[in-house]
Amino acid sequence: MTNQELKNYKRVLEAKRKELLPTSADREEIQIEKAADEFDQLQLAMNRELAIATLDREASLLRSVEAAIARIERGGFGTCLLCEEDIPEKRLKALPWAAYCVPCQEMLDQQKADGQLDEEHEDAFAMA
Ligand SMILES: [Zn+2]
Repeated sequence: MTNQELKNYKRVLEAKRKELLPTSADREEIQIEKAADEFDQLQLAMNRELAIATLDREASLLRSVEAAIARIERGGFGTCLLCEEDIPEKRLKALPWAAYCVPCQEMLDQQKADGQLDEEHEDAFAMA
């Protein structure tokens, strides 16, 4: 991969990171609100659950994006973390934060479905 390509990926990843950084508005949605009646309370609880789920997902993706930026800076970007083969350019274009090639990702997906995935791979797995 050329320096120019790496620079381009870094720019995309940094824009994504900015988009994912939690804002104070996100956090406000999670604040416990007092509602007048039970229906409103249920609604608020559901909104809160949803906001938390979204934040969780975004936090995982953010960690993947930051890990990819670190790989650009330290080396290793574009190389599968598991089998150390090059990740195809097509995949990187679609998911610049991908940490694994497709066969490894599928294997991890399978392990995750079976509930055997270890913590270490979980973050990178999240949105890759
Ligand atoms: Zn691989």
